[in-house]
Amino acid sequence: MGLAEGLLELVAPTRCAGCELPGLLLCERCSDALVRIDAASACPRCGAPDGARHCSECDGRSFAFAAARCAGVLTHPLARLVVLYKDGGERRLAPVLAAMLAESLGEWTSWPQAVVGIPASRRALLRRGFDHGALLADALAARLDVPRVPALARVTSGDQRRLGREERAANLAAALVPSPGVEMPPRVLLADDVLTTGATLDAAARVLLAAGASEVRACAVARACEW
Ligand SMILES: [Zn+2]
Ligand SMILES: [Zn+2]
Repeated sequence: MGLAEGLLELVAPTRCAGCELPGLLLCERCSDALVRIDAASACPRCGAPDGARHCSECDGRSFAFAAARCAGVLTHPLARLVVLYKDGGERRLAPVLAAMLAESLGEWTSWPQAVVGIPASRRALLRRGFDHGALLADALAARLDVPRVPALARVTSGDQRRLGREERAANLAAALVPSPGVEMPPRVLLADDVLTTGATLDAAARVLLAAGASEVRACAVARACEW
């Protein structure tokens, strides 16, 4: 620990992102309480828990990514971790979340040749002061020992939260474009913090496939289910 970190620790001691217990960023109790998703029983298409046989979450929808895996369900305490990371600016959670995500990937860990993150919108970047998508993708790429390729860029940014599912998908598809001058490896793992409808990752995968990737798989730290 450096001097600056030492002083910071003195003024604002590290607290658990789940329960505020001083000490670690994620205490053992909260880590144990995380509702992890078992890939064997999850939906292989969208990563929803217990959707291996039938998945009501993605029924009737098609995705450009070949398959998806998610580390846990977006419920307490994982939901709090994600909010603290994105909106609370707790960047130190990036490697914690990435480790959780890497753990959930199973045999996928040796599959990708690159990790691609979802770039933050300009508005989100201004509000948060950091690109949470790039930081998470960086941490995951480091875990998997492959490069993080900045293959996606944003052209416009509308506030997604007030839009319906269809509008959101259309808006996103229009907003994500391939970054110029990036060499696309064939096997790309797309990473995001939360998978809700899959619209963001679908739009992103579409761009990557059009830009030369031969297969795109998706992964997210948390699965927000609609049921
Ligand atoms: Zn805790
Ligand atoms: Zn599904």
